Amino acid sequence: MAARILDGKALAAEVLSGIANEVARLAQRGIQPGLAAILVGDDAASRVYVRNKVRACEQTGVRSKLIELPATVTQQGLVSVVGELNRDPEIHGILVQLPLPKHIDAARILDAVSADKDVDGFHPQNLGALVAGTPKLVPCTPAGVMRLLAKTGAALAGCSAVVIGRSTIVGKPLALLLLQENATVTVCHSKTQGLEEIARRADVLIAAVGRAKLVTGAMVKPGACVIDVGINRLADGSLAGDVDFESVRPVAGWLTPVPGGVGPMTIAMLLENCLQAAQR
Ligand code: NDP
Repeated sequence: MAARILDGKALAAEVLSGIANEVARLAQRGIQPGLAAILVGDDAASRVYVRNKVRACEQTGVRSKLIELPATVTQQGLVSVVGELNRDPEIHGILVQLPLPKHIDAARILDAVSADKDVDGFHPQNLGALVAGTPKLVPCTPAGVMRLLAKTGAALAGCSAVVIGRSTIVGKPLALLLLQENATVTVCHSKTQGLEEIARRADVLIAAVGRAKLVTGAMVKPGACVIDVGINRLADGSLAGDVDFESVRPVAGWLTPVPGGVGPMTIAMLLENCLQAAQR
């Protein structure tokens, strides 16, 4: 039987509608959540991501403020823009769209964002809270993956979860969230030996690599839940995930599409973090 499709677009719409209701409730107390997005330079993909985030703000009633800066902005210039937003009482969430130009130290910029307004969940304080098992603002893509997994109704406790990719924004926080749900977690990366065999043991298999069609049907345990985080632009301009949809679909139990899987959930979780920051 072909895998059931985990529709991230539909789930994200549900989440955003719940957020819109909460935002309306906050409005009765005179509070409107505000999100500031900083876009540096003119990277086309970053522009699309930011536009989608601003659109989600409009959909939910969250106030958005887009700050566009030239690629020539200095480190100090960017730090002071972040500082102003940290002090702005109308702004509850700050996101700095990555990647930043090479002359900017991205880690220092992310550190400069107030941990209470860090809706991307990248500040060391928020990552530390996640490690300590007391998550506050959780990185959006991993949070979105967990929400998709919850939708399957499958028990995570005791299951074997394999995360391919160990970045600070996806793989590592996702591994910690799975661990928190009592999964037995294996994290794979570019130096992993025997990836195929490890992947085949997974009840939950998550690919967050950035290599089109890396995960094939031969790497999937029958009935497994497969989540595809990857977004890869192919030579013909189309988008592909890290999972070879065609060969995996007949084997897996659940599968996310690209696009329409993890991507929309990432944006929904960003708005949820912003709401949480405003509620505090
Ligand atoms: P990074 O490039 O930061 O990390 C990629 C990871 O994959 C690294 O840990 C790397 O290992 C590992 N890797 C690379 N090649 C292999 C291989 N052949 N076998 C096993 N592991 C490998 O990427 P990100 O985590 O930022 O993003 C991953 C993907 O997810 C990208 O396609 C990105 O576009 C997408 N993405 C999607 C989002 C969404 O909203 N849907 C949000 C964020 C990202 P090593 O550490 O050893 O180098």
